[in-house]
Order: sequence, then structure tokens, then C-alpha cells
Amino acid sequence: MNNTYKYVALIGIDGMGNFNQHTETPCMDAIFANGAVTYDALSLDPTISAQNWGAMLLGAMPAVHGLTNSIVSAHPYTNDALPSVFKRIREKYPDAYLAACNNWNPINIGIIEDGIGVDKHTAANDPELTPIILDCVAKKPKYLFVQFDDVDGAGHGCGYGNEGHLKKITEIDALVGQVYEAYKKAGILDETLFIVTADHGGWIRGHGGYTDGEKYVYFAATGKGIEKSQVGYATTKDYAAIVLYALGIDVPDYDANGFSGQIPEGLFPEYKKPYFRPEVRSVEYTPFPTPAIESREGLGVFIDKNRLRLALFLDNDLTDATAEYDETEIGLCKYYSGGVYGSRGEFGTTGCAVYEDFRFGDNDFTIAAWLRIDRSLIYETDICATKGGCGKNRKDKGFVVVMRNNDTFINIGIGDDDDDFITAFPEDIKDGWIHMALSVDRKNGEIKCYYNFRLAHAGRFDKNLLTDIDALPLTVGNDALHSFNNENNTIFNMDDFLVFDGTFSDKDAKHLADYYKFTI
Ligand SMILES: [Zn+2]
Repeated sequence: MNNTYKYVALIGIDGMGNFNQHTETPCMDAIFANGAVTYDALSLDPTISAQNWGAMLLGAMPAVHGLTNSIVSAHPYTNDALPSVFKRIREKYPDAYLAACNNWNPINIGIIEDGIGVDKHTAANDPELTPIILDCVAKKPKYLFVQFDDVDGAGHGCGYGNEGHLKKITEIDALVGQVYEAYKKAGILDETLFIVTADHGGWIRGHGGYTDGEKYVYFAATGKGIEKSQVGYATTKDYAAIVLYALGIDVPDYDANGFSGQIPEGLFPEYKKPYFRPEVRSVEYTPFPTPAIESREGLGVFIDKNRLRLALFLDNDLTDATAEYDETEIGLCKYYSGGVYGSRGEFGTTGCAVYEDFRFGDNDFTIAAWLRIDRSLIYETDICATKGGCGKNRKDKGFVVVMRNNDTFINIGIGDDDDDFITAFPEDIKDGWIHMALSVDRKNGEIKCYYNFRLAHAGRFDKNLLTDIDALPLTVGNDALHSFNNENNTIFNMDDFLVFDGTFSDKDAKHLADYYKFTI
């Protein structure tokens, strides 16, 4: 390693995305005039603060570090298996001064460990945080991590990309300029790697999905060894690797289930190791007719048929194959042959089916279906629900399972509170058919999501939110008020929608994969 720096500064502008390219940013323009820059670095899905500040500081995917906004707000970070960049730096440099100045204080609480000697600060707003940052810079921090928060507030308030949001970016640009000047004044600029980026962007007045406005973020770096260049593929989790490398600390080997940050191509001229990206697999099927549940090849052989509560094969109708439930068909559903397994159902913009007599009761449950995914989709789609769709009905009692362009999520509410469990589609899976199994363990407060019969994400979920699942009758193909997909003009394809009692295990996944003759 010949290109190490004595100091690194990373300034993150919450909610800026890459919208800085649409407004005046004289300070950043000057600072990075000869730097390595990209406007297409990627926020990781879901494009939410904790998930991406966590990725930056821990070097791991959101599904791996498991942090959410509510977790980081309430729980100190203590995961020794996945230490923060600060902790890794502390091990190598026991006496170094390290500083974290985060306007959104949950980063200080729930992502950076206590007791490792990080000088942590927060403030009421970005202008008030700035003099504190300047004081820290005067103490020559080995690593300075800054989170400015006001741009995200402006995005939520005025709409991302609108005048108020862009104006705020220009204001914060001036603060970035002050921090840069402080490095000059401290006499350490020549030995500093200086980085500016964002955790996510936004769309309309929110973020969390994976549209271009939400997922693309600005990333720029400048320092003695950096040449004017375009940075290659980079995601927020890679910033952890960049910081370690710059400070002369070994970057851990890529581990999809642990530290997976890597050095983007085009950033450090002397760094030659190629950036590893998993191969994208497409799933091949030979569709054949759905066997009867009780036949030798039938679903009942692979999943205990006593657990099977609802089986919509969507071959020619919406009839439940367990013969337990009759549907009420609402609006227009169209069916085509040639689906994944037998035929598939296409739910038109007003189509859905209601299972009036179906109840989850107090049971743990699993919802499984084949979904045809398309990452260019703009609108989200409700797959099934026992309450209204996720906008104004967010806190209502019941749940809704939603598909977006790059993920699925379940939103569960109890009337005055709600939460989401979001699982990104694996990056190695192509657009087309994907099998989803969502397992809800109500007794232990855990949700798991499997894609193509592999566990993609498991995490804690507030048990209080899992009490009242049967609010409105279960609706398949829309929300339970039968309005969400209509408003979005959504059309989506689904096959083999199943509900069964109990949680979903790796063994269940294997059995179901066998049923579909799918090689895991
Ligand atoms: Zn954020």
C-alpha cells in the first residue's frame, strides 16, 4: 500500500442523492475540480438513513447489518462480529483522535460503538453543527465523519429536486467549504483524503424505494494520490473499505454475509484489484400443469397439507385449491397460460379477489408466491392485504405485502403505530420470475424473507405490531380497500399464491424448491 493518507474526512449530506448536479455548489465544484467523482454511486435498498449510514460505517449490506431507523434510535451499537470503521481504526491507532459530528444523533448512538474513544457531537441543525466540526478539525482527526441533515428535511418538506431542496443543497455546500478551509488552516489538507457523498436521494417527498432519484448518490474524493477521474460502480457500503484502505488498514476480504465493502475502480490509481460483482443468474423454467394437491407430485406431498391454508394456483380462476375458501372477485383479472407453473394470473389495474371467510387467527404464518419482477417499474404494487394500502392507511390495523421495482416489503399497523420490513431483491437475480416466501413469527417477533428458496433477510419486528392481523378480509391482488393498485394503474403477474400456517424454515424452502423442480 503506497497511497495511504494520514487523515480521512467523510462528509455525508443526508437526502442529497445526486441532486447537487442541478443546483449551484461552488465550494464542492472547486474542491473536487481535480478529484475522482461520480453521480451514479448507489444507495443500498431500502434507501433509508439507518440502512445506508450503517452501510457506510459498517461496510455491510442492510440485510446483513440489520439496522433500521427505530433500532439505531434506541439501541447502542454492540455487534462485535461487524465492528464499525471507527472501531477498526481504533485497533490500528490506539491513540488517534477520532471524531463523529452527526446532526442526526441516532448515528452516534446506534451505529458507532461507545467506549472506543470517538469524540461524538450533535446539534440542532447543520449551521449549528459546523463550528463544532471546525473545532474537531483543529484537533487533527485521523477520521472525521460528518452527517449534515437539513437537506433531507428540505426534501421531505418541499419535494426532492424542487426549489427548496436545491436551495438547501447550495446552503450546505457553503458549510462543506468551511470544513475544507479548516483542514487548510490546520495544516493537514495535503495529507487528507476528503470525501463528500450522500446516503440516499428521494422521490416526491419520500424515500425508501429504488427509483433513480432515490438510489443514485453523489460521491467525490480528493487528495494527494487522486487523479481527476470518473469513479466506477460504488455503493454506500464501499465507503468503509475506502476509509480503511486510505488509512493503511487491511480491507477485509469480501464476505456477502459480513463485511462486503470494496474499493471502487477508478478511485485510487495504484489500486488494481478488480471490483467483484456476483454473476446475474436468470431462472429457467419448464412450465407444466399444476398437479392436484393430493397427487404424487402435488403440493401436499411437499408442504404438510394441514398447514396449507390458501392455495391459489391462478390457472384459470381464483378458486382456492384447498376447497376451504370461496372468493369474491372484484374488478377485472386476466389469466394467461404459460406461467411459471401451469398458468399465471395477471391482475389488471382494478382486479383482485377477496377471501371473506379466511382468518389468520393467532397463528404464525407464511405467504409465498411467484412474482414477475421488473426493476424499471415506477409504481409499487399491493400483492395482498388485510388493510388499506400504504399511503394514508399506513398505521391502520392489519398488514399489506407490497412489491416495488427492487424489493418487497410487509407493512404492519395497529391503529396508532406501524413499521415496515423491507427486503431487496438479490443483485444476482435477473428481472423475471422470482419466488418470495415471507415468514411471520408472531410469538418471537421475527420476520424472514426468502427469495428463490434462499434466506435473503431476517430481522426483529415489534411484537406489539403483530397482534391484530385480521383487520379486513384478506384481499389478493390489491389492498383490502381495493383501491391502491387502481390508483397506480398497476398491472402485475403472480403465480401460485399460497398461505400456510407456521413460519418458513430452510427445510420448508428445500421442500418447496423440490416441488417446483427448482435447483437452489
Ligand atoms: Zn437519510
